[in-house]
Amino acid sequence: MSNWSKAVFFGFSVAITMGFAPTISVQAQAPRYDLLLKGGHVIDPANDVDRVADVGITAGKIAAVAENIPASAAGKVVDVSGLYVTPGLVDIHFHLGHGGAPLDWFAPEARSFTAPLGVPADIALGAGVTTVVDAGSTGAETFLQEKMEVIDRVKVRVLAFLNIVANGMNGGLEQTVDQMDPQLCAETIKKFPDIIVGVKTAHYWTEKPWDALHPPWAAVDRAEECGRLANVPVMFDFWPRPDRTYAELILKKMRPGDIHTHVFAQQFPILLADGKLNPILIEARQRGVIFDVGHGAGSFWFRNAVPAVKQGFIPDSMSTDLHMGNFTVLSMTEVLSKFLAMGVPLEDLIRRSTVNPAKEIRHKELGTLSVGREADVAVLEVLHGHFGYIDNGYARMNGDVKLVARMTIRAGRIVFDPSGLSMVEWETAPKQYFTTPELGGSAPARADNYPRN
Ligand SMILES: [Zn+2]
Repeated sequence: MSNWSKAVFFGFSVAITMGFAPTISVQAQAPRYDLLLKGGHVIDPANDVDRVADVGITAGKIAAVAENIPASAAGKVVDVSGLYVTPGLVDIHFHLGHGGAPLDWFAPEARSFTAPLGVPADIALGAGVTTVVDAGSTGAETFLQEKMEVIDRVKVRVLAFLNIVANGMNGGLEQTVDQMDPQLCAETIKKFPDIIVGVKTAHYWTEKPWDALHPPWAAVDRAEECGRLANVPVMFDFWPRPDRTYAELILKKMRPGDIHTHVFAQQFPILLADGKLNPILIEARQRGVIFDVGHGAGSFWFRNAVPAVKQGFIPDSMSTDLHMGNFTVLSMTEVLSKFLAMGVPLEDLIRRSTVNPAKEIRHKELGTLSVGREADVAVLEVLHGHFGYIDNGYARMNGDVKLVARMTIRAGRIVFDPSGLSMVEWETAPKQYFTTPELGGSAPARADNYPRN
């Protein structure tokens, strides 16, 4: 028992034995925690915690991770026994559902604008994710719109990789090398150092013959130049060709700390002809190259992932690459479930979806339950049964475990609670739930602003 809780109990017994009304004592002792998650199995790799413990939250921050915190110490208690309590997950490959169009809709470049590729940012909360990083949906000319329309308004924390293409992914100019201005890219990153964490290059000249306007390494080299100028990592979406090999990318072009996303896509030589893991992956890792899942709608194949994982090669960070083409079947917990079903331990997967991505984007304050940090928390459950998982080659892998999100807390607020862990059973709801005669209807079972559905 903490000193504080001893004091409370002592105060209570003194108050009662001396004949004071207990309510006076209670009022004198405001709850120490606004919210207490009680009885869950806490996995917090940053602090080497992997055991049953309670998590106390006060004023939007983590206030305690300890065993047997008394319920009386909290204004609100949520029983999470049988569930896992982890730092809010960090998804470093995501696409926001707004932004990307030129600010001026009547500008000539707006004519090539197509429907946004991204999804509503807060959809991430439904998978225990509290931080998403937009992976280059916008560039120097379109980032501000994304910030104004989405980043500044949503509940989930949003950071971003800036596309080396000034017009971003939505504007139809991804193949225009003139659009890749390292100077402008770096200046923009420096203007928004709290939001932009790196550079992104993607989709460049994957099939057509090379010509003077499209040298093989233009996108890679220009993204790297911006990364050097702004001193930030680069995230690579890459398509190898004979004149532009994967080995050269990960062994020569990429700097330590740069991230290769979509690592298990079909186009990478993850395995040698004999089925052994390609040693260039290990060599690249030794020189500091980071490998990220970036599942997407085309970039995750069991034929690469399963043999690689079996041989001990697990991507450094888990991520979705969520966009309009996959959001009905994909989520962060679904990505983690696939690796869990392949036999990767849950603790390891939580590390690769919290601490590791936070470090990759140089935001080490994220992805932990350290006392004093913003209270971003995921409550997860491992289900056991018969489950099927699909990849982007339309192939299935059977599994007997599945990870699902039961509750998400962002900066101390419960923002996702679809099974009502924090709610009263309806029969025991207070009077206003059943009737509010003056309104001709009824009112919610509680007055706070937690989501009700
Ligand atoms: Zn992407």
